Amino acid sequence: MIVAGNWKMYPGPDPAALADKLAGVSGAEAIVCPPYTRLAACVAAGLTTFAQNVHWEHEGAFTGEISAPMLQSLGVTGAIVGHSERRQYFGETDEGVARRTKAALDAGLRVIACVGETQEERDAGETETVLRVQVGAIAAACGPHESLLLAYEPVWAIGTGRTATPAIAQEAHAIVKSVLDRPVLYGGSAKPENVEELFGETDVDGALVGGASLVVDTFAAICALAAAAGR
Ligand code: PEP
Repeated sequence: MIVAGNWKMYPGPDPAALADKLAGVSGAEAIVCPPYTRLAACVAAGLTTFAQNVHWEHEGAFTGEISAPMLQSLGVTGAIVGHSERRQYFGETDEGVARRTKAALDAGLRVIACVGETQEERDAGETETVLRVQVGAIAAACGPHESLLLAYEPVWAIGTGRTATPAIAQEAHAIVKSVLDRPVLYGGSAKPENVEELFGETDVDGALVGGASLVVDTFAAICALAAAAGR
């Protein structure tokens, strides 16, 4: 099981305090994804540290972007790509997400590539099609690369408190894996009160946690529940 904390544009917890707490949890991999200004502090604290995005070029005139070698120079070992907030608010497309993912993997970073349907798409019965298209773009660019993780994050569950049921998550994860057979993390209002059931599903291989990753004890509790799932 893998548990990744997406701190989004929040300062997040003290990296040293978090590392101390996580040292007492074994049996699951914990990853933190802080804002860029806190990457170095997280690396220094000994945390496995991913960025929240990465560009496909190594350098160039791409204001506001960051490259894989730049991240690697800080000791960062991976990146989230294609988070729904990037797709929703910053116009990232399936093609761009696939490009970012491939470049990051080629550079030696690990990647958590995010996919998921909106409420409107679910209501219209389009969930499977949306997932197949989103994952298909990544699969066409990279195939089942060993450093690639996927995250199923239904947009209607992110930051809303409306967690997907274990059955909904399992169904979606199975679709994702049928296109690209890599571990799939669940994301969307995951918290200690609901992850145990989610982790019980065959195709749920961990969690991508937003809000609940900002508190040391809560994130550590989710990691402990992932470890207790025993795989
Ligand atoms: C996320 O940011 O990826 C996320 C799942 O957020 P939250 O857990 O707050 O819904």
